[in-house]
Amino acid sequence: MDIPLVDLKAQYSSLKDEINSSVGRVMESGDFILGPEVKALEEEIASYCGVKYGIGVASGTDALQLALLACGVGQGDAVITTPFTFFATAEVISRCGATPVFADIDPTNYNINHHEIEARIDGRTKAILLVHLFGQPADMEPILELADRYRLKVIEDCAQALGAEYKGRKVGSLGDAGCLSFYPSKGLGAYGDAGMVTTNNPEIAEEVRILRDHGSKEKYFHHRIGFNSRLDNIQAAILRIKLRHFDKWIEQRRQRAKVYSQLFGDVVDIQLPCTAPCTRHSFNYYTIRLKNREIDRDRLREYLSSQGIATAIYYPLSLHLQEVYKPLGYKAGDFPESERAQEEVLSLPMYPELSETQIERVVSAIRDYTSESRR
Ligand SMILES: *Cc1c(COP(=O)(O)O)cnc(C)c1O
Repeated sequence: MDIPLVDLKAQYSSLKDEINSSVGRVMESGDFILGPEVKALEEEIASYCGVKYGIGVASGTDALQLALLACGVGQGDAVITTPFTFFATAEVISRCGATPVFADIDPTNYNINHHEIEARIDGRTKAILLVHLFGQPADMEPILELADRYRLKVIEDCAQALGAEYKGRKVGSLGDAGCLSFYPSKGLGAYGDAGMVTTNNPEIAEEVRILRDHGSKEKYFHHRIGFNSRLDNIQAAILRIKLRHFDKWIEQRRQRAKVYSQLFGDVVDIQLPCTAPCTRHSFNYYTIRLKNREIDRDRLREYLSSQGIATAIYYPLSLHLQEVYKPLGYKAGDFPESERAQEEVLSLPMYPELSETQIERVVSAIRDYTSESRR
């Protein structure tokens, strides 16, 4: 593909010397698991997000898993979440022995619709696990208000949204715990798996710290059944270098999104990504919706691919319809907005190095295809 979905090589070549020398320093130090770079990254991310604590873990999935456990979610509990997300969001709820209870999404921003939550709260409900999908923050105020009223924990899945803001505050600082992924294709990506939990709550922070290292506070003395979920020093060293450039990258993503949206301006069959006024979208993905079902999304993807343009579908099957969740008893039609989104969304190339000419090519290819299909 000459226009990939993300271009990790372009980013590496711009930082090659800095990254290589800092990886080299860690290699020389002989300190690989946790270590000083991890500690420094935890402080820098906590301060970036505006929280007191950051706890580095092995992946975004583990960040979610450990945050749920630290919030007291366990066997027999229920956690309300969105069906329109990456599988890990619900998987970790099941892994705790709890049940994911889905609530439909808001069609304008693809995030959980707060109006759908209250009717699903019952005596088993322990927490709300929401996702800031694509980099667009969920509408937090009504969710926090509900959680407060029913004494529920709020966990934010910020895997796609580090740096995004809701009413001037960074995501990851709004609920009881925030969960970050540094998977390579995320806005701030490591060169392997890595993740972090952010929180202002010292008990949650302490619990995550214990859980990530075999349930121990002090080596060889164990308080809990925990995990081996430690962040390694090399990934942290890489992430610290990238963090210095991160705000500039978000600005570049936002600027690219603006160019896309201006160029798409008069294409009638396309819903552009929403940018709610009190939020700052971090544009991990630029996702459009094809409103006209006459336009076959999969054939459009094939056409774009033939033009050298990569696209992706996040996500093609809502979680309540996944085979593994059949025993939960959901059926097609239960969450119409999530099911409509799975048929209509299309994510386009998005990365800070994407050029205006490349964006023009993507938009004109889509424009050509859609005007052809309307005829
Ligand atoms: C990437 C992602 C995760 C999982 O993160 P990993 O670091 O890959 O484990 C969880 N939730 C969402 C919404 C994601 O996009």
